[in-house]
Amino acid sequence: MTKTITDVICPFCGTLCDDIEVAVSDDGKKILEVYNACAIGNEKFHHAMAEDRPKRPRMQQADGTYKEVSYDEAVEYTAQMLAKAKKPLMYGWSSTNCEAQSIGHEIAELVGAVVDNTAAVCHGTTLIAVQDVGIPSCTLGEIKNRADRILFWGCNPAHAHPRHMSRYSIFPRGFFTGKGSQSRKLIVVDPRHTDTSKLADMYYQVEQGRDYELLQAFRTALKGEWLPDVVAGIPKERIYEGAELCKSGRFGIIFFGMGVTQTLGKNHNIDAAIMLTKDLNEYTKFSIMPMRGHYNVTGSGEVLAWQFGFPYSVDLSRGYARYNPGDTSSIDLLTRGEVDAVFTIASDPGAHFPISCVKKIASLPSVAIDPHITPTTEVSKLHVPVAFVGIECGGNAYRMDNVPIDCRKVVDPPEGVLTDEEFLERVLKRTRELKGVKA
Ligand code: SF4
Repeated sequence: MTKTITDVICPFCGTLCDDIEVAVSDDGKKILEVYNACAIGNEKFHHAMAEDRPKRPRMQQADGTYKEVSYDEAVEYTAQMLAKAKKPLMYGWSSTNCEAQSIGHEIAELVGAVVDNTAAVCHGTTLIAVQDVGIPSCTLGEIKNRADRILFWGCNPAHAHPRHMSRYSIFPRGFFTGKGSQSRKLIVVDPRHTDTSKLADMYYQVEQGRDYELLQAFRTALKGEWLPDVVAGIPKERIYEGAELCKSGRFGIIFFGMGVTQTLGKNHNIDAAIMLTKDLNEYTKFSIMPMRGHYNVTGSGEVLAWQFGFPYSVDLSRGYARYNPGDTSSIDLLTRGEVDAVFTIASDPGAHFPISCVKKIASLPSVAIDPHITPTTEVSKLHVPVAFVGIECGGNAYRMDNVPIDCRKVVDPPEGVLTDEEFLERVLKRTRELKGVKA
């Protein structure tokens, strides 16, 4: 007999789909089928069942090979490394739960670390823009029920958030959008043709790195003011046409991704996108929302902000929280050689940072906490495999619209494998002992 667990949360992307159903074996140890998830979500659940998955910590040897060690030894190495370092970097946090993040931040405060999350290389610029000009946003439920003008700018949800369009933004029939996709007009802005742009009513092939100009041109067109014949590769007639289409809707939304946050202009692009949203509210109701990638990168920003007042790149090395992205952010610190130990969790800088930074991580005392073997675990001195959050243990995560959702446990982790929270609790306890600090 199998049993089916319903209302499971998918712990992969920021859409955090909450309608997954998982058939598990009688003894609650094996996932047999996953229903409703997209291909990448489905793969994540099944990956937890992989036979060759590491189940014990592995310490790198002098010849580059790995030797299994106990969790006690892993806790000791991690606590010693953090306690001895003058300025350790504690990076990642975006694919674990808020509870683990909060414990990790306590350790960071104790050892004077820099705590940074993956926003440093994705939507950190968005957070800077929000601090500059605020953000008129809403929930994905409001999009489903009300939005009839959808703009995807510099993002490709067909691949990166595969169920976003079917659950919230294009296809579902909502309270005021009863005809589903026929109730909505889709505008896509992207330098490349994508599977999302194929669905668009209007597609703007903006010149690479010219988003800022096009955003400002849309603001100008809203007011019917003069534009040059071509802006960012787009004829002015089409810009006026797009502006009119947005104005004629009842409720619109701009979703934007790393095509705008990490190209020329960076946070200034987002300033302009937010100001475009503000301008559109002179004519109709409009909102804006970042397409957050990791399923709990939003939660990491929230927890850091509760605890230290800043959402990423928080430097605690002086005994108080400092925040100055570009100075206190991971890539800059690694490039300048300002950190002397690296702790990564729930992320893969080995796959996403510049090679010079990856080499730096490889040269330093380093620990990677991750259920998978990744480029980061393979350059770190110690790899600690842990349970999959959202599959083998529960915990809180924040969806891309800042809605907190409790993830569910569907199966037990392999025997003896710790969760992120359990491992971090043990490291915190040992670090306190080494620092002579009482709980
Ligand atoms: Fe999981 Fe994202 Fe796919 Fe939803 S869209 S099933 S959250 S990977």
